Amino acid sequence: MKVNIIGCGLSGITAAVLLKEQGHQVEIFEMREHIGGNCYDYHQDGVTVHKYGAHLFHTKDEEVWNFLGRYTKFNNYVHRVRANTRLGLISIPFNKKSAEQIGRDLSGPEIRELIYRDYSERHWGIPWEELPQSISGRVPEKRDNYDDRYFTDAYQGQPVNGYTEMFKAMLEGITVHLGAEEDAWRGRHCDLLIFTGKVDAYFKYKWGRLPYRSLRFEHFPAPKDPLFSFEKGSVINECNRKPYNRTMDNSVYLDEKVETTILTRDYPEEHDETNLPIYPKSFGHGRELYSERYKPAVAAETDVLFLGRLATYAYLDMWMAVKQVMVKLGQR
Ligand SMILES: Cc1cc2nc3c(=O)[nH]c(=O)nc-3n(C[C@H](O)[C@H](O)[C@H](O)COP(=O)(O)OP(=O)(O)OC[C@H]3O[C@@H](n4cnc5c(N)ncnc54)[C@H](O)[C@@H]3O)c2cc1C
Repeated sequence: MKVNIIGCGLSGITAAVLLKEQGHQVEIFEMREHIGGNCYDYHQDGVTVHKYGAHLFHTKDEEVWNFLGRYTKFNNYVHRVRANTRLGLISIPFNKKSAEQIGRDLSGPEIRELIYRDYSERHWGIPWEELPQSISGRVPEKRDNYDDRYFTDAYQGQPVNGYTEMFKAMLEGITVHLGAEEDAWRGRHCDLLIFTGKVDAYFKYKWGRLPYRSLRFEHFPAPKDPLFSFEKGSVINECNRKPYNRTMDNSVYLDEKVETTILTRDYPEEHDETNLPIYPKSFGHGRELYSERYKPAVAAETDVLFLGRLATYAYLDMWMAVKQVMVKLGQR
């Protein structure tokens, strides 16, 4: 079978690997000038820079872990996050260590005010009171122990040579066309189309544009600050009124020993034609538009499989993107 895959992010690459293994002829078309979608990283002055913000791999799913483990070794990085608050720098999710850092315990509402309100309002561009329960109710639970790991999944780590190198190994023997026109795939013959781009773009925005929140990334060199380390963590969340969400030290993920690192900051903004669709606003108008218009249209398409975060209009962690491909291809 001839399969055309639109998008060379984690979803498209996983689909290509699995279909090639089944003996199909696959070809990938990617709009950007690089592989890897939002997981792409590159090397600069001894630092592996995450172009689209910190990507930390974690999963409970052994099948996904073993699958990616065929293409890379993972180091033992465990993600730890600190929050820059008016009471100082504290470990999050709030745990007994955080209580000791500020000298007292906090109630649920106090934690919400200190850590989550400003951050979420800036991130989504909406007052806390207007955030849907699906977001405001998602703040991590307070922990009654000293566990300061951000994720508690059994499998955690970073690909030892970075994500891009892992993708290159996955793509061995697969043709990828980079810098493809957005509509280059239309009219090309194939027996199966795998589409991992924006679902509304696939239908030429027939029912209007699905809303997204976007981020602008700023990468800049800075002297290595001992505040960031493999043991302490790579990310500090700004729980205040600063214009950016987080500061990320790219040298930490792979424990790269440098005197000058590359820091990244992410500034939330609304999505339009000039920036990337990052977080689906799958609530309110966005949810209605997707579930009432685009989702039924997807179900009516034959010989097309919609995979990944843009085509299914859902925020997917990396392991979820891989799993979704495994499950949906398995159902065919
Ligand atoms: C800021 C940020 C931080 C994240 N951090 C984490 C994390 O720490 N841990 C974690 O597990 N997950 C994280 N994620 C999620 C992770 O990025 C996704 O799970 C993953 O990128 C999903 O891959 P995808 O292939 O579905 O989408 P994408 O990576 O978006 O790939 C889709 C690709 O399709 C291409 N494309 C779209 N339309 C077309 C078209 N018409 N023609 C050709 N090409 C097209 C795009 O250019 C893109 O390269 C994060 C995401 C973001 C945005």
